[in-house]
Amino acid sequence: MVGSEIIQNAVAQKRTALTEYEAKEFLETLGLPVTKQALADTKDAAVIAAKKIGFPIVMKLMAEDIVHKSDVGAVKLDIKSEPEVVATFEELMKIPSNSKKQVSIQEMASKPIAELIVGTLQDPQFGPAIMFGIGGILVEIMKDVSFRICPITEFDADEMIHEIKAFKLLDGFRGSPKADLNALVSLLKTVSEISMDNLDVDQMDLNPVFIYENGIKIVDARIILRTTN
Ligand code: ADP
Ligand code: MG
Repeated sequence: MVGSEIIQNAVAQKRTALTEYEAKEFLETLGLPVTKQALADTKDAAVIAAKKIGFPIVMKLMAEDIVHKSDVGAVKLDIKSEPEVVATFEELMKIPSNSKKQVSIQEMASKPIAELIVGTLQDPQFGPAIMFGIGGILVEIMKDVSFRICPITEFDADEMIHEIKAFKLLDGFRGSPKADLNALVSLLKTVSEISMDNLDVDQMDLNPVFIYENGIKIVDARIILRTTN
């Protein structure tokens, strides 16, 4: 499916959000780096997908009404064997939900230099806007984020990255390697374009994006659809 069809289908079904799996599928069609992923409806399918992706893997429950997955125990990291896949599948499927439940099997991304947040929202006056920050406690407590109205240029993206207080974490802090800022600039620019080109996307939340010395990887993604028509 091409990216816009993923969105159009969901809108046609009067859905209000894409699951993480669908959101990443959409982002991948636009050339963005996401964790390898597969959807499983059964234990057997989960085992096959896990073997194909390669251990260790991550398993998450996908259901449209589960927004904050960790809060309900729907994210299981570092699964290393087939019996663990089967046990985890059963455990995830027991989590209560009123939506269709499926399990996402995904590659376990290696430890990054930093976990980032990239988001978009609709400003009531100016339309699509983009947000950037370092993930985790810094964004929640320090509100250490930068914003721009879309569309942004590479210059704007570079400024957004440099103006957060925690920029040092990306710039070789305490002997860690410097993060791949070119890949990050390119991500911010593409995300800005997505929000300009897809008017049915009300909000996007890529959280976290892992950043490395070479490249980035989108580990979790949420897309909220516009519901006004
Ligand atoms: P939530 O819906 O709670 O935000 P996430 O999918 O973001 O769930 O998972 C919670 C945390 O688990 C992430 O912030 C990240 O640190 C870790 N994580 C999730 N998926 C992966 C993955 N595929 N590889 C490595 N770490 C992951
Ligand atoms: Mg998340």
